[in-house]
Amino acid sequence: MSVRHVLGISGGKDSAALAIYMKTKYPDLDIDYYTCDTGKELDETYRLIEKLESFLGKQITKLRAVETSHENPFDHFLKIKGGFLPSSLVRWCTKSLKLEPFERYIGTDLTVSYVGIRGDEDREGYISTKTNIQSIFPFRRNIWSEEIIKKTLSNSNIERMLDLFSSIELEKRSARFLELLGQPIGMDFPLQQKHNLILDINIRDFNRLVFAFLKDTSYPLALENYFPLVEDESNLVRSDIFKLLDESGVGVPKYYKKESFEVNGEKGEYSRSRSGCYFCFFQQRIEWVWLYEQHPDLFFQAMEYEKDGYTWGQNESLAELIKPERIKQIKLEFIQKTKGVKKQSPFLLDILDEEEEVGCAACFI
Ligand code: SF4
Repeated sequence: MSVRHVLGISGGKDSAALAIYMKTKYPDLDIDYYTCDTGKELDETYRLIEKLESFLGKQITKLRAVETSHENPFDHFLKIKGGFLPSSLVRWCTKSLKLEPFERYIGTDLTVSYVGIRGDEDREGYISTKTNIQSIFPFRRNIWSEEIIKKTLSNSNIERMLDLFSSIELEKRSARFLELLGQPIGMDFPLQQKHNLILDINIRDFNRLVFAFLKDTSYPLALENYFPLVEDESNLVRSDIFKLLDESGVGVPKYYKKESFEVNGEKGEYSRSRSGCYFCFFQQRIEWVWLYEQHPDLFFQAMEYEKDGYTWGQNESLAELIKPERIKQIKLEFIQKTKGVKKQSPFLLDILDEEEEVGCAACFI
């Protein structure tokens, strides 16, 4: 039985950069690229996918949650939900439009799924609960999922890991590495600390141990004799992502481009911070203003969904949000916020992205 390798393109910068990275660094891995189309993405997202297809030299499979409906997937499911708009608390859209089509696409195939969480992020993203899907994170120095780290470094597996340490081929059998491997985790020596200390000594050797450990499990990688990412020590952060996109010629998705605005004599810049549906409820108020001013047609389409008491935001309808005084206030507040953060970061995206972590990994990576 062979293992499938897949990579989901959300339309965001990180998954696009990951596709470029994998194609460039691991050209021999036969990866299926896919994207889940909600039918409500920005045009810029569709353009990005076309550019990626030409860079990758292969088609990106477009998954749609419903193939047979005359409506687009989002509208189809909205009707089923009785017009109940999704929200961060009831996020039926991610499940129905992204996760379920992905799991149908995979079926029962043993699959390695590459996820573009960066080395400067502290989150795990969507991990399929299906046991035939194993997530790998090539941008982080720890490429393995939390679940695998918990298993390999658990106290009950210390003996097994020590056995592997003495039996498999390693770069260096350091005494400190061995000592850490044998030290039980507990209140005064948490898992995270043990893991980080081991990675500080030798990432490749740790990966070799994990890969050998997996051989006796039912994870998809147990079937592979060789996995090149075991030798990968990369740790890519936000600036690396922009570099990858620029140097490949694919470019940064256009909606990240900063546009200038002026209010009460004060100058500011705004953009959109994420991919996904143009009306996504995760966007910040300044992004709604950006949508209103840069893509008014899409903004008014988003407004049409607000009926029967349902609104995209929690305390404010889109009609209220675009009153001139309110727009002014949102812009001024954003300028103030930007000033504070700019002292620490040169990236506008650091300000817009601050809520990225609560967002949807399936939609925004
Ligand atoms: S982008 Fe937002 S609205 Fe669209 S499916 Fe993802 S969470 Fe839902």
